[in-house]
Amino acid sequence: MASEFQVSEGWEKLSSALTRQGRPAQREEGSPVNLPLTRGSTVLFPSLDAMNKQGHRRYDHEYIYGAMGTPVQHELEKVIASLEGGTDCQIVSSGLAACTTPLLAFLKTGDHCLLPDSVYGPTRRFAETLLKRFGVTTTYYPPCANAETLQGLMQPNTRVLFAESPGSHTFEVQDISMLATIAHAGQAKLMLDNTWGLGIFSPFKHGVDISIQALTKYPSGHSDVIAGAVTVNTEEDWHILRDAAIQLGQLASPDDCWLTLRGLRTMGVRLAQQSRVAFQIAQWLKTRPEVARVLHPALPDCPGHEIWKRDFTGAGSLFGVVLSSDISQSAMETMVNSLKMFGIGASWGGYESLVLPTSGGIIRKHPVADTPQGPSFRLQIGLESPTDLQDDLAQAFEVLKNPR
Ligand SMILES: *Cc1c(COP(=O)(O)O)cnc(C)c1O
Repeated sequence: MASEFQVSEGWEKLSSALTRQGRPAQREEGSPVNLPLTRGSTVLFPSLDAMNKQGHRRYDHEYIYGAMGTPVQHELEKVIASLEGGTDCQIVSSGLAACTTPLLAFLKTGDHCLLPDSVYGPTRRFAETLLKRFGVTTTYYPPCANAETLQGLMQPNTRVLFAESPGSHTFEVQDISMLATIAHAGQAKLMLDNTWGLGIFSPFKHGVDISIQALTKYPSGHSDVIAGAVTVNTEEDWHILRDAAIQLGQLASPDDCWLTLRGLRTMGVRLAQQSRVAFQIAQWLKTRPEVARVLHPALPDCPGHEIWKRDFTGAGSLFGVVLSSDISQSAMETMVNSLKMFGIGASWGGYESLVLPTSGGIIRKHPVADTPQGPSFRLQIGLESPTDLQDDLAQAFEVLKNPR
C-alpha cells in the first residue's frame, strides 16, 4: 500500500547519513569507530597568544571552554544542522530550553509573539509567565487558521510567529510555507518546534528561520537523555542565537551529547519500524466501534492531512485517539490502567510504547478544529511486536465494556 510505504520512506532514506556523520575519519590508522568522550571545563592552550585567538572563535564550534561546548557537542551540532538542512545548530539542556532560548534571543520588551493554540504546554507557560513579565505579549492562533485570519492577528510589533507541527496532543499539521510568507511580510521570525518532523520535514526549505528539536525524543531514542537543539540558517541569526545561548549558559553534558550521537545511529531503522507499526495500529483503531477519531497525520481525516502529504516524507510513532463521547473519562482511565504493553508517562520517542491521557488539563483559547469531543489519549509506539501491542489494546477495549 502506497500510504504505508510513505510513512517509513523518509526514515529509511536517512540511515546512511546517520551511520556516517559525526564520526572520526574512516581511513585514519588507529582511529576508533566512534568519537571519544571528552569531559573538560578548562581547555589548555600553549600560550596566551593562542588562548586569545581562540577566545574570539565562539561562533565556530571550537573547543574553547567546557561551557561553550565540548567536541562531542560540536559534532552533534553539525549532525543536527545537516539533518534539519540549516547552517548552524546550538545544543541546549532540554527540548524546553530549545523553545525558550530562541524566544529570549529574538524577543524584547514591547514585542508581540504568536503561538499556536496547540503549542507544547511548558512553552505556553513560559510565554504566560516569564515572557509576560519581561513585557512580551502573546496571542494564540488556531493551528489550522487560514492566511487571512493569521494576517489579521499580526501586529506591527509581532517579531516571532511560532509553530509546532503537528501539535503533540491534537496533531494538527500546519501550513509552514504559508506561515513563513506571513511572518516575513511582517518582519517576524518563523520558529518551528519540529520535534515530530525531524528528518521527515525540511524546515528551511519551507521558510522556517529557527528550527527546534527535543533531542530527548527520537534522536536519543532510549528515554535516558534530556537535551535540545536549535538550528538556524543564516549567519546573522546564528550570532544572535549563539550569544544568547552563551549568556544563558546553555549546553548539554558531554555524556548526554555522546548518548544522543549514539542514539542517532539507529534512528532511521527504529523510526522506519515504529512509524510503520504506529500507522498499522492507527488504521486498526479506526475500525474499532469505541473510537471516534484517530489523530494521525497520515490518515485523511486528521486536520492538515493534505499538508502532511504535500510536505512530509514520512510519519512518526506518536498519534492521538479520541474515544466515542458515550464513553466516560473514568472508563477511559480504567482502560488505560489495564494496558500491559504501554507505560503510563510523559515524553515519547523512545524504544518503548507509552500511553498518556490528553483530555482534561489542556488549556485552549479556541475550540479544537474539526475534532470530535470524547475522552482522549495519545500513543507512542515503540519497538515491541505489533501483534502484542494490538492484542493489548484489544483486551483493554474489553475492559471498557465492563469497567469495574
Ligand atoms: C518533549 C517536547 C519538548 C520538550 O522536551 P524536553 O527535553 O522534555 O524538555 C518540546 N516540544 C515538544 C513538541 C515535545 O514533545
